[in-house]
Amino acid sequence: MICQPSDCPPASEIDIPAMRAKYRQERDRRVKRDHNDQYVPTSGKWAGIYETDPYTPVAPREPITGETDVVILGAGYCGMMVAAQLRKAGITKFHNIDHGGNFGGTWYWNRYPGIQCDNDSLVYMPLLEETGTMPSKKFADGYEIHDHCQVIADTFGLRENALFHTLIQSLKWDPALNRWHVGTNRGDSIKARFVVLAMGPLNKPKLPGIPGLDQFQGKVFHTARWDYDYTGGAWRDPVLSKLADKKVAIVGTGATAIQVVPYLAKYAQQTYVVQRTPSTIDARDNRAIDPAWFAAQQPGWQQERIRNFHHAAMERLAPGEPDLVKDIWTEISRNCAAELEAEGWPEISPADYAARREVMDYRVMERLRRRCDVVTDPQVAEALKPYYRYLCKRPASNDDYYPAFNQPNVHLIDVAETRGLERLTETGFVHEGTEYPIDCLIMASGYEVTNDLDRRWGIDTIEGEGGLSIYDYWRDGYRTFQGMMAHGFPNMFFTGFTQAGTNASNSKTFIDQGFHIGHIASEALKRGAVRVEPSQAAQDAYIAHLRSVAVDVSEFQTECTPSYFNNEGDQQKKRSIFGEPWGEGYYAFEAMLQRWREAGDLAGLELTREAVSA
Ligand code: NDP
Repeated sequence: MICQPSDCPPASEIDIPAMRAKYRQERDRRVKRDHNDQYVPTSGKWAGIYETDPYTPVAPREPITGETDVVILGAGYCGMMVAAQLRKAGITKFHNIDHGGNFGGTWYWNRYPGIQCDNDSLVYMPLLEETGTMPSKKFADGYEIHDHCQVIADTFGLRENALFHTLIQSLKWDPALNRWHVGTNRGDSIKARFVVLAMGPLNKPKLPGIPGLDQFQGKVFHTARWDYDYTGGAWRDPVLSKLADKKVAIVGTGATAIQVVPYLAKYAQQTYVVQRTPSTIDARDNRAIDPAWFAAQQPGWQQERIRNFHHAAMERLAPGEPDLVKDIWTEISRNCAAELEAEGWPEISPADYAARREVMDYRVMERLRRRCDVVTDPQVAEALKPYYRYLCKRPASNDDYYPAFNQPNVHLIDVAETRGLERLTETGFVHEGTEYPIDCLIMASGYEVTNDLDRRWGIDTIEGEGGLSIYDYWRDGYRTFQGMMAHGFPNMFFTGFTQAGTNASNSKTFIDQGFHIGHIASEALKRGAVRVEPSQAAQDAYIAHLRSVAVDVSEFQTECTPSYFNNEGDQQKKRSIFGEPWGEGYYAFEAMLQRWREAGDLAGLELTREAVSA
């Protein structure tokens, strides 16, 4: 079912000022004064939650020493896209180094029951045309995406030099050698000409700082390290038979928990869903991809679909531009486009369009809230309703989540009032004065996204020129050139959401960054340079321009309920998951980089050639 504007209640049925006030009230109930500090890092007693791999035994190996052209930290989507582009640029001596036991990153670690991508797989799964891959359905299963990662690794020859089950602990620039010393927890000591940080934003699980967490004696695990030995079942066959006599609590109701809960409801004796803020959950409408349709696509179709998705999800659809993706991510744009079409596409200013979008936002959110009424207990149905603007939190879709609350063994534990689960005891949890015994506590509590970088990245030392720590250099915000290099950190490249363009398709962002990094690294090598770094002046000019075209989203974020999207409601801290995106739009950013590459002079970069002794 593809929602039309007529599926949303009309604006006349919604008292928008009253709803805006309700949104603020619901936000204020949830803002915690300790913001990011409410979370417990997966270190010390909890280090195993991050460090242990429950899926693949760690094979002993000898430490690696010697020299290489590039070390890429990460073998998930981002690290793989960078590696594939390096190879295309003619650089073949590189290592992907990753904590996991294989390629895939988040799709390696996350094997919880029900895992699927929440985005259109034709957009989300990278390099489909290059690898000749057809996803099986609109929202592919996690293991299908993981398997696709293996195909990419094999297609682009990434496997041979990859180092798995390896954590980089230190990166130190050596000005005498013009190389990075890369130290790992496996005793490796590698001298790399270039280093690319490609760890992605969701690599380190975090735990909720629930009082009594250390006292609970039952089973505890995080969704990113699902324990099938405990629950029964397997990644590709999640029949959680061992939960039949277990009382299970799951903390969190984000995108992960929405996928997990129907499985707990089906198999556990009792399931307690601990909810602080409800998600928005649309109908899933998952469907098989039609092979005939797929075969008929013309070359370039995936890039075209990604561009269309980006317009619909993050910008606006142009007159006559269809919505190819047609799901919850694109509904507001699609509806606004339908209205404008009916009015003959009048000229409207960005401010008028934003106002129109806001009204549609209220209408779509009301439609989504009404979906909760499938739950027969009206109090539970009301508690499940999300009161905030669309995209304050990541939207989800699922057909089995709400109906699960009609089962007698599924209980909603609404902890908004206490801003989190009140307390754990040795044998259970306490809520509104009652202790609930549980056997198992599953943390669907998300990842370190907006904490300080040293906590998020988990690399002890990253030291550039003169021993300058990147953590200190970026303490008050990113300082980059093109979002991918920084003055004082020669031959080091950054990826992801820093000060670069952000595409609605993460993989597109990573592919393009990989391409750009591959261009710079290969050009530097071709020109005999051993060191490349942005000049201070070029970096300053880049940042000045970036800020001059920035779009101010602080008002929207301030109004939002807390989440990692808005720094857990902390407006003082400057850093957000999206960094400082290029305000002129993703494709303007891409065009700017393309012009820069085509000019051929690597403007703004300082190249140093090896001194030749007489
Ligand atoms: P999130 O960070 O989105 O959610 C964490 C959950 O834990 C929230 O519901 C949060 O509540 C809750 N929580 C935290 N502390 C407490 C506490 N003390 N008491 C009670 N509840 C608490 O993590 P997810 O793993 O769900 O998702 C992370 C991201 O992973 C997604 O946003 C998405 O980007 C990605 N993902 C992608 C998928 C895909 O299909 N591609 C699928 C699943 C995840 P509150 O909201 O109130 O803070």
